Amino acid sequence: MALSGLDIYKNLPKTNCKDCGLPTCLAFAMKVATKQVALEACPHVSADAAAALESASRPPIQLVTIGAGDAEIKVGNETQLYRHEEKFHRPTAVAVRISDLDDEQAITARAEAVGRLAFERVGLRIRVDLVAVDNESGDPAKLEKAAKRAADASGLACVVMSATAGNLRRAAAALSGRRPLLYITDPAEAGAAAAVAKDENCPLAVRADGLEALADLSSKLAVLGVEQLVLDPGARGLKPTLEAMTAIRRLALKNFRALGYPTLALTSSADPTMQAVEAGTYVAKYAAVVVTDACEPWQILPILTTRQDIYTDPQKPVAVEPKLYSVGAVGDDSPVLVTTNFSLSYYSVESEVEASRVPAYVLAVDTEGTSVLTAWASDKFNAETITKALNQTGLESRIAHKKLVLPGFVAVLSAGVEDESGWGVEIGPKEAAGLPTYLKKQQWKRPA
Ligand code: SF4
Repeated sequence: MALSGLDIYKNLPKTNCKDCGLPTCLAFAMKVATKQVALEACPHVSADAAAALESASRPPIQLVTIGAGDAEIKVGNETQLYRHEEKFHRPTAVAVRISDLDDEQAITARAEAVGRLAFERVGLRIRVDLVAVDNESGDPAKLEKAAKRAADASGLACVVMSATAGNLRRAAAALSGRRPLLYITDPAEAGAAAAVAKDENCPLAVRADGLEALADLSSKLAVLGVEQLVLDPGARGLKPTLEAMTAIRRLALKNFRALGYPTLALTSSADPTMQAVEAGTYVAKYAAVVVTDACEPWQILPILTTRQDIYTDPQKPVAVEPKLYSVGAVGDDSPVLVTTNFSLSYYSVESEVEASRVPAYVLAVDTEGTSVLTAWASDKFNAETITKALNQTGLESRIAHKKLVLPGFVAVLSAGVEDESGWGVEIGPKEAAGLPTYLKKQQWKRPA
């Protein structure tokens, strides 16, 4: 739970000695509360007070590590119910299910395909995180082989799912050092699975039907020393799962420690579109791990896009470096397109220029990462800022024309930009999607 400045101040020596570099203990407490300064910067905090503050400030949801090395991911440690109140910290891990009933070739092919499920979006690489190997056969040897095969072929960390703790033990041994998430689907086997998780140093996912049963189970496992725990409330279907995920997050944030663990949700629809809808919903509300049968790129991309959008910091717009970009083999007659340095704006323009196959310069003006209309409305995208950005490029000496293309939504800026910069202005399409047609049909006219 985040502590207030006053909570922290109560535990400080209150001598105002300034050894921390701040004028008063209260000022120091306020900085600690907003994470601008670490508590350790005060050399006079007693061990008891530090321990009390550490305990009180422990995140309400346990941090759990799955996988090892390059495949390692962390889930949990969330502190908010609503993203806008701060941000969500640990993106949901997306796992694609593979059945151990499949033959060896099918398992390898599917795992390789899952390992390739990665996309480039707004300059960032987004990808599936896990393969979830399901012991549908009930056979320990099949699970062991399938888990090893899926991990090797995908290069990803594993969730190993079984109703039998003994089967999990064999698979965990086969994946020794790779720290799979051991998911015991039968609550009656949870105690035995906890022993496996401890022996193999793996995180454990447990299922119980209903929140009360789940809280009882997690409390018993905590007594056994299992802290690396993920919870499946046993709900299936969109509405019950959404309700359970939301209730667990609410209770965890109220410091109900028995439910203070990351959660796992499974998509259950047989319909491919609904699988993507379900998974995207659980990403938004509040699953830490989503296991799904969806594995086609058209299913996975919207799930990962939702995750990327939900887990960006709402107070920090995603921005590209403000500068002049060359898209394609630009020459001295290439058009100069103006946009802002908001990632989505820039990459929308860049991808449409690429699609048009008309090489162009793209000038990303520094608008503190805001979009064209937002920046225009807040006066960050105006004749002065565009001209300043243009002058910094030195472009004038490199090309044979003096024409800029402004986004159609800010046509109103054209006269001001012409006056301020001395460059001519053409009005481009309102949306980046219109650029290929605009560039090809040559609405853009070079001066004679
Ligand atoms: S060093 Fe500690 S005791 Fe001294 S002013 Fe800072 S917070 Fe207060």
